[in-house]
Amino acid sequence: MSATPSKGLRPHVALVGRRNSGKSSLVNAITGLPLSIVSATPGTTTDPVARGVELLPFGPVIFVDTAGTDDEGELGAKRVERARRAAAGADLLLLVAPHGRGDEEEAAYLRENARRAILVATFADAENGSAEATTGAAAEGSLVEEARRLALPFYRVSSLTGEGIAQLKAGIVKRLTEVARAERTLLQDFVREYRLILLIVPVDLEAPKGRLILPQVQAIREVLDADAAAIIVKERELDWVTSRLAQPPDLAITDSQVVLKAAGSLPPAVPLTTFSILFSRLKGDLALFAENVTAIDDLTDASRVLLAESCAHHANCDDIGRVKIPRWLKNYTGRDPRFDFCSGELPGDLAPYDLIIHCGGCMITRGMMMANVERAKAAGIPITNYGVAISYLQGVLDRVLAPFERELPARGLSPRAGTRSTP
Ligand code: SF4
Repeated sequence: MSATPSKGLRPHVALVGRRNSGKSSLVNAITGLPLSIVSATPGTTTDPVARGVELLPFGPVIFVDTAGTDDEGELGAKRVERARRAAAGADLLLLVAPHGRGDEEEAAYLRENARRAILVATFADAENGSAEATTGAAAEGSLVEEARRLALPFYRVSSLTGEGIAQLKAGIVKRLTEVARAERTLLQDFVREYRLILLIVPVDLEAPKGRLILPQVQAIREVLDADAAAIIVKERELDWVTSRLAQPPDLAITDSQVVLKAAGSLPPAVPLTTFSILFSRLKGDLALFAENVTAIDDLTDASRVLLAESCAHHANCDDIGRVKIPRWLKNYTGRDPRFDFCSGELPGDLAPYDLIIHCGGCMITRGMMMANVERAKAAGIPITNYGVAISYLQGVLDRVLAPFERELPARGLSPRAGTRSTP
């Protein structure tokens, strides 16, 4: 992991809809900035356009303008697929349809995404369609009716005159605030006042110069917010620091790369986990990652393993994903599988892979991570993550998962998981 404040901490709002439904004008009207190119020519937006803006009074938000869901041709199908993936990872969806229009396909989309959707009817300034959407038999089965039935927020707006835009923005802020309140935090259930948290942070050649990485900063901030206290130490000073403590820490969190050293130095009674494991719980599906990690034991020389990194800021993850995990995995299994690497999106076809090991995803949202998890599940490919895999390969997974005992189903790990380590 590398990098500080990230898009991964900012909620993503994706605008989806058919070509010429007014998505680009709408994103410009909401943000008050000319973020997207607006044109009457259908299909002006090709790849998803993501821009960060300050949406007051909520805070930083990423708006994602996507290609029309009815784009055509070979290239169009690829754009639709990219739009679909962008929408899958978003925290909030604005389904955009011209006022008075809508069909069963869009109604089904609303139903599938009812948990996170807002319906926006555009071109409210245009006369045609108003009556169609609001009265009489034509309204039956319309998108508006469907939104009402699902109790979804619905706004009629005009990007041209500004009608309804302020109300829509207030609605987006309200939904994002609800989403943020419902989200779990990195140290949820572990920090409260007067708790002492020990953070083990190597500062080696791979550490970014002059700063801490995002998971470390996030942990420190949450400790302070909870009126607890943190001791931050490099692994070299760990024994010295613990020898000076009158009482053991309530929780120790270590960088995965020195988990073996931390597990050896801290008595078994000290709850120990890793930043990566905490991130897998925050952004992904820790129970699934822990269950799937045993797929490592089934790898053969003919197997293919995909190491998936979520962002281009991976100077440090490079070494972990491209060098250390393959080396540890080969040592552990005694096999020589083929390793492939990807940065950003997962490859279109996951079928060739026997295992996906995903990075911590500190720069992406939980929605994006879960969209990747769902793709792997749909393809029937076991997916785990760096932190879980490293602890498994080092033989300490049981120890670092113990703090989550109550939220994880009983696991049937390979006997090797708790006993064997790979230097
Ligand atoms: S590659 Fe993954 S873990 Fe590394 S910095 Fe990017 S999002 Fe974070």
